[in-house]
Amino acid sequence: MRYETVIGLEVHVELATESKIFCSCSAKFGGEQNEHVCPACCGMPGMLPIVNKHVVDLGMTAGMMLNCKINRTTTFDKKSYYYPDLPCSYQTTQWFAPICVDGYVAIDTPDGEKKIGIKQIHMEEDAGKLVHDDWTDTSLVDFNRTSVPLIEIVSRPDLSSADEVVAYLEELRSLLRFAKVSQCRWEQGSMRCDVNLSVRPEGSDVLGVRTEMKNMNSLSAIVRAIEYETSRHIDALENGTEELVQETRRWDDVKGKSFAMRNKETAGDYRYFPDPNIMPVVIDDEWYGSIKESLPEFPKVKKAKYVSLGLSDYDAEQLVSSRAFSDVFDAAYEKCKMAKEVANRLITDCMTILNKKQQTMDALNINGTSLGELILLISDGKITLANAKRVLAAMFEEDIDPAKYAEENGLIVSNDTGKVEQVIKEVIAADPKAVADYKGGKEKAIMALFGKAMKQLGGNCNPQLLKDMLIAEINKN
Ligand SMILES: [Zn+2]
Repeated sequence: MRYETVIGLEVHVELATESKIFCSCSAKFGGEQNEHVCPACCGMPGMLPIVNKHVVDLGMTAGMMLNCKINRTTTFDKKSYYYPDLPCSYQTTQWFAPICVDGYVAIDTPDGEKKIGIKQIHMEEDAGKLVHDDWTDTSLVDFNRTSVPLIEIVSRPDLSSADEVVAYLEELRSLLRFAKVSQCRWEQGSMRCDVNLSVRPEGSDVLGVRTEMKNMNSLSAIVRAIEYETSRHIDALENGTEELVQETRRWDDVKGKSFAMRNKETAGDYRYFPDPNIMPVVIDDEWYGSIKESLPEFPKVKKAKYVSLGLSDYDAEQLVSSRAFSDVFDAAYEKCKMAKEVANRLITDCMTILNKKQQTMDALNINGTSLGELILLISDGKITLANAKRVLAAMFEEDIDPAKYAEENGLIVSNDTGKVEQVIKEVIAADPKAVADYKGGKEKAIMALFGKAMKQLGGNCNPQLLKDMLIAEINKN
């Protein structure tokens, strides 16, 4: 018999806010243990939560990027369970009226575009972290991540292979990063995923027994886990190797196996009830409209636009992989209208500078219009490429006027041919061997003379002009 796999995902994404969801503690990643805590996020008696408005902004933004309907009155609820990293013994989440419902993400498959349904997106708080010390045989708790804002994106069971899951997660990541909802960094846990999987005979419309693998945090592990779990289910159905039960399982990426953790809880076990301390959040037309207006173009649309400007598929893909790069590109292109030149400066030169600083593409923070001006200076022959890179490096430090900076630092190409001629004469006189070699047919010998002359001119000479004048001078003798 042939089987098909049915997969639904619950993706947790940490929101890119400065502060936590219900208090003003920093939500930044890292820090000393228990550095970013206060009585509110530690669940001390009498402390009351206050909703961080920016969390709702980002929740709405995510929903709009994923084609969802926005619940204009959205409420918070308590999900009760005990774990040492949860100081209140309940998690504040959304159950009865989540912020977004009924959307989709379109992915590319070999059979064309496929829409993966989004059941809902809800806002909630993260839990803390237990640190196990094997040496002293103790467990300590770090509350820095407690109450860091998350959204959980619940898909419908529309995915049917590991490839589709990867395409979906990559598209989701691209959309959310582009809209600045989250950095979506798997390695920092700001994106993680629960995989719900079942298997059924092909063509059947009855769902099989579902198992859930929790807290997956890398694409490669997700792919391996799906492949393992699919064959385990098929084996059980086909050969009766085991009885499948609805349960939560843990994926061990080193052993390449999943292990039973606990029977799957039902919603009733969590005793969801409305949090009486948090007023319903009502989203009026003005608020809704301001978020709608702030949405960026979808990365796919932007990429197609870049390709139509003459960029290669690869370059366009690079630019839309980061909103910062795309924004700088747009402003620079607007100024100079030279797409390929802007892409080159960004993808080669800016990347080199960021790599040296050990920063990611999202850290790019230069004035796009100034980059456009710099490119115009290069194309007008007013500055050499080598010196333009020095101006670019300065643009990373502060917002400068490229022409003014180049002028003040002696980086503008000199039109003083008298001076160039004088330098050429000196260089020729000092190296008769190179001159003889060149005249004897060694074309490359001229590069030594060229290099020396350019050095003496401080790099501020149009390279073609210098070369032409040098050859003319040698041929005179
Ligand atoms: Zn706090």
